[in-house]
Amino acid sequence: MPEATDSRPPIRSSSINVTFLGTASAMPSSTRNHSALAIRLGSDVWIFDCGEATQHQVQKSNVKMGKIEKVFITHTHGDHIFGLIPLLAGCLNGAGGAADGVEDSRKSINMNEPPFEIYGPLGTRAYVRSALTYTHTMLSRPYVVHELRFPSDPQNGDFTNLWRLRSESPTGRNIPQINGVWSDVYKDKILSVSAAPIYHSVPCIGYTITEAMIPGKIDPQKYVPDIKRTNTPMTVMRRLQAGESVRLSDGTVLQGPKPRNGRKIVILGDTYNPSPMIPIAQDADLLIHEATNAHLPGIVPTTKDDDTFESVQQTAKERGHSTPQMAGAFAKRIGAASLILNHFSARYPGNDDVDPEAKIIMDAIGDLAAMEFGKPVVCARDLMSVDIGIRTAE
Ligand SMILES: [Zn+2]
Ligand SMILES: [Zn+2]
Repeated sequence: MPEATDSRPPIRSSSINVTFLGTASAMPSSTRNHSALAIRLGSDVWIFDCGEATQHQVQKSNVKMGKIEKVFITHTHGDHIFGLIPLLAGCLNGAGGAADGVEDSRKSINMNEPPFEIYGPLGTRAYVRSALTYTHTMLSRPYVVHELRFPSDPQNGDFTNLWRLRSESPTGRNIPQINGVWSDVYKDKILSVSAAPIYHSVPCIGYTITEAMIPGKIDPQKYVPDIKRTNTPMTVMRRLQAGESVRLSDGTVLQGPKPRNGRKIVILGDTYNPSPMIPIAQDADLLIHEATNAHLPGIVPTTKDDDTFESVQQTAKERGHSTPQMAGAFAKRIGAASLILNHFSARYPGNDDVDPEAKIIMDAIGDLAAMEFGKPVVCARDLMSVDIGIRTAE
């Protein structure tokens, strides 16, 4: 498989932040927008899923449109992709056209610029191409669509008879699944993204972002006396910082601090069973898992009399979704350090930061997941922002 490349310098992602842009399932509500979240990695922004009006949500948040470099789509259900074209047009200056004979710089697009990258399952490229074609959208910068092809998909071709647009880079890859996963669909010196299929009602993908090993904290005072005594150049500190062991001229061996594991974030799309993610999701610092339906008798007024935990779980699974308990159990299974739930039914309010009744409902959903997970669980609300710290103890 051709290795993903990026001509830009790698990001030093000292801070990793997740901002939830939309946390609703099929129907948006007055307090929840359709699915989307932004991961801020240093100064870059990657978007995961892009439901309707994601661009509006970005404008309401601290996420900067101009910093968005990549979009990852879990599946092509509308509540996860309907916002992609407006976001693409917004990021790549795609609004408005020009009459015949009028100069427009977008007609001489510089294809040497690194393209705006979109990753998704089969159909993502055709969807973007047809939407841009029929809306006569011109972009000022190239974009590219890399598709993660399932074994049952055609492995080659674009899945559309439409011509490639001037703005679409021809470097889009069709990435085959190997041994059940798509490894390193993106990779630079600091970050990599792998993916695996997850069970839903249509082909659906879960993503793992993994940060490279982080150099350990060095205490120079521990090494300086030996370095000076043996007249060793101070540049040796660089090797120690990298975790190497160094033998000095008098035989003394100095050992640099052990590097620490980088952070791992697992972002799932809609699913009733994400178990194929297990090989790439183990020991995640953060798991983001859907919890579309919950059984909350006495708490949610619309609970039907004949609903039971089993019947709600059965209905959720039949529609390709999960309950909070299923999310909690999966978080425990992969040894996740933390779990945040998203993709809630429209009946669950998203204003629990200001409405005490909404807080009771969302706390109860979190508690159902926590019973299985064994740790507190957070329910995402729109525009909620969370920093992912570096783990101190390994
Ligand atoms: Zn959905
Ligand atoms: Zn779906």
